[in-house]
Amino acid sequence: MGISRVFVANRGEIAVRVIRACKALSIETVLGVSSADRETMGARLADRVVCIGPARSTDSYLNRQAILATALATECDAIHPGYGFLSEDAEFARLCHENDLIFVGPTPENIRRMGNKLEARSLAKEFNVPLAEGSARLYSADEALETAEQVGYPILLKAAAGGGGRGIRVVDAPEKLKAAFEGASAEAAAAFGDGAMFMERYIGNARHVEVQILADNHGNVIHLGERDCSLQRRYQKMVEESPAPGLSDKLRQQIHESAVTLAKNIGYVSAGTVEFIVDMDRSQFYFLEMNTRVQVEHPITEAVTGVDIVAQQLRIAAGEKLDINQGEVKVEGHSIECRINAEAPLRGFQPSPGRISRWRPPSGSGIRLDSHGFEGYFMPPYYDSLLGKLIVHGKDRQDALAMMEQALAGFEIEGVETTIPFLQYVIVNDDFVTGNFNTRWLEKVATTFLESQAVDS
Ligand code: ADP
Ligand code: ADP
Ligand code: MG
Repeated sequence: MGISRVFVANRGEIAVRVIRACKALSIETVLGVSSADRETMGARLADRVVCIGPARSTDSYLNRQAILATALATECDAIHPGYGFLSEDAEFARLCHENDLIFVGPTPENIRRMGNKLEARSLAKEFNVPLAEGSARLYSADEALETAEQVGYPILLKAAAGGGGRGIRVVDAPEKLKAAFEGASAEAAAAFGDGAMFMERYIGNARHVEVQILADNHGNVIHLGERDCSLQRRYQKMVEESPAPGLSDKLRQQIHESAVTLAKNIGYVSAGTVEFIVDMDRSQFYFLEMNTRVQVEHPITEAVTGVDIVAQQLRIAAGEKLDINQGEVKVEGHSIECRINAEAPLRGFQPSPGRISRWRPPSGSGIRLDSHGFEGYFMPPYYDSLLGKLIVHGKDRQDALAMMEQALAGFEIEGVETTIPFLQYVIVNDDFVTGNFNTRWLEKVATTFLESQAVDS
């Protein structure tokens, strides 16, 4: 393969995931760590570890120049950005190319166009991908008020540059619009350096369904089926599954086709995800956004299709042709992922950093754990609270649910609080088991969980 040494520009479980994929392809790895991450699982596994800066992300994992300089100094020929951090930074991807480093991801142009939700929406429209009713950029709260009258309440305010659920507000009445507009715009300006806002009709009974895309430099674009990620708290995913339950074959196929159409028409290259919202009352789907990177929940797609998405990213980046065509993609069984965060569910899901004093993960056939945790690991307070992802692959949904119940029950972690007790409560809930849920459901369950715990104690 045309890549022999990869610089891993990330941390946590995804750094471990990328290093493992490289090892399997006999590619050497150099991991750039912050000074807080010298003793991590990734640092143990990488061939070489170089400190790129202090704990604060802006000084290390977001420091483009430090990363480029270190990758060049260690003679890497490619950089894998993982997710978050610089993964969707078009300027960083461009700088990689300028320095003769392969950016393991899409083109800077792909990232730039899809990174702005307003531009992505206009492209989707151009290629006849269905869009939720919405607006162009809103320049003021007054303009938002006028537009909301036409769209009809409730509406959803969104940041054009948004990601990770930030800069999003649902507004159900005109008197609440001004404050929500200003709050969301300020949040987006602080997080993304861009406070541009727009709105969409708020879909109350919705599922989040997304399609995994793989595209090479030779014009081949395929999809690896879809994932349902409707179980969200504060617009952040907590439990994901593939295939998505409760979709008609026709709807499922239309969603796949729309994702491939969009990826083809924008000349997309690499792995990417096209996200849709499905209005369950109307059986209609609408384009949300495209994530131009590997997704946190990619392992469930790997489980049901048998395709290693990170290895494919590396192969594509090296200029190789996809070694699988659409007809060969088969979805087998059912996979579920639970995100295990170091958070205290009973204290408003507050982050719970600290030293892990006991770590006994479940194992067995059909069980996969993507994690950087180990006994003795100190989970620092500076970063995302994701501690790992527990993934099961069963012969059908019922089987996968039973496996997940067992696996969660068998997972012993001490020293930090985790979301495991909450996940255990969620996955045995009748509504979830029967597929009677939407994107608002998990917030309600979080409330009943708190009440049930108050009764117990
Ligand atoms: P996915 O869409 O892959 O499920 P998430 O939206 O949960 O991913 O985000 C993946 C990770 O990247 C999370 O750790 C999140 O905090 C982070 N993230 C997402 N978008 C951004 C962004 N624009 N800037 C910084 N971090 C982000
Ligand atoms: P982000 O970039 O932060 O991931 P998305 O546009 O993907 O933003 O939206 C995040 C989540 O917000 C979706 O998964 C969905 O739950 C919810 N959402 C987005 N748009 C709508 C909508 N028009 N109606 C209802 N819910 C929505
Ligand atoms: Mg999204």
